[in-house]
Amino acid sequence: MIKYNLKCENKHEFESWFSDSKDFERLKRKNLIECIFCQSKKVDKSIMAPRILNSKDFKNKNNITNDDLKNFKKNLQNLRQFVEKNFEFVGNNFASKVREVYYDKNSNKNIYGTTTDEEKDELKEEGIDLVSIPWVEKDN
Ligand SMILES: [Zn+2]
Repeated sequence: MIKYNLKCENKHEFESWFSDSKDFERLKRKNLIECIFCQSKKVDKSIMAPRILNSKDFKNKNNITNDDLKNFKKNLQNLRQFVEKNFEFVGNNFASKVREVYYDKNSNKNIYGTTTDEEKDELKEEGIDLVSIPWVEKDN
């Protein structure tokens, strides 16, 4: 869907949605677009306000495409696999476990688990910096 700001010959401005830019041209050719204020058929696009969804040819750096999201998600899944393979899961005991590891000079265990924001702040005050990673589901 794409939204156009339209302007008639009498300078009335209004917005209208079209399925794509060709849709607008087609309706205009058939005189099916008219000003909602004065019913003039002399309507043209004024400033374009694109609202394009799922469009591959809309490549703008500020716009995240579906492909970007897919790649990002894939990276997160790889990250999850890496963590699962190399780290020991300690679940909700993470905060106490991480202290054990941190204060035990002989331990170089890698662990992962969940903390509350409060626990995280406490650990940070003790000088234990944690890395939070977004945890994605493997499948979907
Ligand atoms: Zn008008």
